[in-house]
Amino acid sequence: MGIKNKEPQTVEVKGNPLKCPICGNAYFWTKKAQLNTAVATFFNLDWANKSATCFICSECTYIQWFLG
Ligand SMILES: [Zn+2]
Repeated sequence: MGIKNKEPQTVEVKGNPLKCPICGNAYFWTKKAQLNTAVATFFNLDWANKSATCFICSECTYIQWFLG
């Protein structure tokens, strides 16, 4: 059998449903990404844990990033 992709899901941020600012879609794939140390330092994020969550619009693939 082929690789089974995860279904895109709705996402809430601070209690509000996330919508794509480009196409208005409300379904996203979720990815966790490690920020490399150089990037974290550039953005003065040493205080933060160095991972980000990104939500990828299932329609237009626009990516929204959230730190932490
Ligand atoms: Zn979109």
